Amino acid sequence: ILGAMQHHQLRVMRLVDHAEREHGGREIVSAWADGTISRTNWRGVASDARRMAKALTRLGVQRGDRVATLAMNHAHHLISWYGAIGMGGVLHTINPRLFPDQLTYIANHAEDRVLLYDKAFAPLVEKLKPSWTTIQHYICMDDGEFRAWIDKEDEDFAWVEGDEREPCGLCYTSGTTGNPKGVLYEHRSTMLHTLVEVGPDVFELSCRSVVLPIVPMFHANAWGVPWSAPMVGAKLVLSADYRPQQMCDLFRDEGVTHSAGVPTVWLGMIDHIERTGADLGPLKSVTIGGSAAPRAMVEWFRRKGLNVGHAWGMTEMSPIGTCGTPPANWDEMTDEEQIDFICRQGRIPFGVELRIVDDEDNVLPRDGVASGRLQTRGHWIVQRYFKEEHDAVDGDGWFDTGDVAALHPDGTMQITDRAKDVIKSGGEWISSIELENAAVGVPGVAEAAAIGIAHPKWDERPLLLIVRRPGSDVHEETIREHLAKHIARWWMPDAIEFVEELPHTATGKLSKKTLRDQWRNYSLP
Ligand code: ADP
Repeated sequence: ILGAMQHHQLRVMRLVDHAEREHGGREIVSAWADGTISRTNWRGVASDARRMAKALTRLGVQRGDRVATLAMNHAHHLISWYGAIGMGGVLHTINPRLFPDQLTYIANHAEDRVLLYDKAFAPLVEKLKPSWTTIQHYICMDDGEFRAWIDKEDEDFAWVEGDEREPCGLCYTSGTTGNPKGVLYEHRSTMLHTLVEVGPDVFELSCRSVVLPIVPMFHANAWGVPWSAPMVGAKLVLSADYRPQQMCDLFRDEGVTHSAGVPTVWLGMIDHIERTGADLGPLKSVTIGGSAAPRAMVEWFRRKGLNVGHAWGMTEMSPIGTCGTPPANWDEMTDEEQIDFICRQGRIPFGVELRIVDDEDNVLPRDGVASGRLQTRGHWIVQRYFKEEHDAVDGDGWFDTGDVAALHPDGTMQITDRAKDVIKSGGEWISSIELENAAVGVPGVAEAAAIGIAHPKWDERPLLLIVRRPGSDVHEETIREHLAKHIARWWMPDAIEFVEELPHTATGKLSKKTLRDQWRNYSLP
């Protein structure tokens, strides 16, 4: 028998409906690329999304069609999300930092019909237009064109409704090897992810929160923040670029309480604050994710009196997989224990399961010692990449993340490496991430990368690349002395080289692949 409760499809448009009804006056602030600031609120976003839905319908866009955006974070981008999905479309957020070949591939593979883009990307759009075979309409988002386009319409539009398992969004992984792969998010998966994300053990958002995601809306949906903020009625602050001074001004002027970003972004912020004495305003909670949070960074935020959450996830996971917020015995932990806890990647929220397996797919114990390939399954994890013939999961529904991790008895997960980045030395694995984290703990080191270099005896040995902070002349000896205190002896890099800068991927992470190519012919001393 079935129960006798009301059944409503879990559709993301309920988020903006709720925000409009219950938190209509709560602000959305946009800091645009030209430095100007504009304001709207959830009522404004909802009404503009209705106008846009109508405008898209007039263009002939059909239910299920892909509507793409090539844009940074601002209110027009937010309106486009809800406008495109509200008229039954599928929102495809494209990462403008991908290589041109990938941008061509992605838009054609997605069969995008409309592209909404930022003026800053107009030259890129002009260049790629001839290679895009399915896009029929191009609309610039941050000049008068967008407003004029939607203001021609009235608000009389009812969202297109349907099954909760219909797609609402499409996001491609940056694909360090092969072609990018599309992850087709569903209304239901996104709603379940959002319900969990706002909770106190993940992003702890409420109607009192003021959130500034320092992660682009094209990067795994800005980690879900544009869905979470309307669910709780938070004030949302969006910035089209991440210059540290601009971020600090926004933190202070807008009263930002919660922010989230990748370590590279936070490194830039910390550096700026240390040099200028800028402050973080009423900020109380930062989430670090996308790459491992270095210990020194965690310590820095704690010294500033902030709560630090360390999150792990991926595009294929919508993206939240784990988040480290204080456990039940937090108050009994020493300072060091608390820092150790945060440096691991956090605990597993309801909705996600994790396990680690060895090379023969045997499940390994959760003892904090064994490390193996990390696999996941759950309500918001990919089943099959867009247009692929086969599932991306095994017979029991487990998806292989490509990460190597340990699961600790206290419930935390610890990434030890990406499967393709571990340095294999004499049959054992050296964690490139741990080497890097230890190295950035040395004063004067801005960034570090460890890669494996072919070695006749050991298979691979570590090479450590260091970017010095401006004005620093930190030496190899100092770094070695520090490393000796933090890593196993046999992990000590065979060579340390100083470089001006390190290559990053389109999502701001170290590009180990590029580094391995660059240093392929390096001979270790
Ligand atoms: P890409 O960067 O390739 O576009 P994602 O943004 O989906 O893809 O990145 C997912 C990957 O980022 C994870 O599989 C993991 O390797 C890495 N990652 C994410 N968060 C963390 C973290 N907190 N610590 C270490 N690695 C992380």
